Amino acid sequence: MAYVISDSCVACGTCQSVCPADAISEGDIYKIDPDTCLDCGTCADACPTGAIAPGE
Ligand code: SF4
Repeated sequence: MAYVISDSCVACGTCQSVCPADAISEGDIYKIDPDTCLDCGTCADACPTGAIAPGE
């Protein structure tokens, strides 16, 4: 189950810099590729706005 980024994202890039799988791409709101995500939660712990949560 991949993690997902909500519209609380402020595009700071913190999650992208910590993701061990390079699953996060840039944008107005960053996006996690569900096929690449390892479901490790590293990005969710690092996000300063709490925008990342496990997907359903
Ligand atoms: Fe990357 Fe882990 Fe976040 Fe998935 S849960 S996007 S593998 S840091």
